[in-house]
Amino acid sequence: MATDYDAPRKTEEDQSEESIEELKARRHDKNSGKVDEDEAEAAESFELPGADLSHEELAIEVKPKQEDEFTCMSCFLLHHRSQLADAKKMICFDCS
Ligand SMILES: [Zn+2]
Repeated sequence: MATDYDAPRKTEEDQSEESIEELKARRHDKNSGKVDEDEAEAAESFELPGADLSHEELAIEVKPKQEDEFTCMSCFLLHHRSQLADAKKMICFDCS
């Protein structure tokens, strides 16, 4: 009986390892230019063993910034395009 349990287990471990590598690569992409994802990332790595599903959900919920939004280079907040005061410096009206 014990051997029956052993075989499928190994396969699951292999799969989760693969998806972790994938997620790492994907997360790297999204992190460029974003600061506030560090906390989420720390929480994710804390739950790594066996927490595959919650992992996927998090990856989907963290959206890249929208087309009509920009990150102010001074206050680093996400603003709507209408708040863009200086397109070259990427600074919002509050900081200009
Ligand atoms: Zn600003």
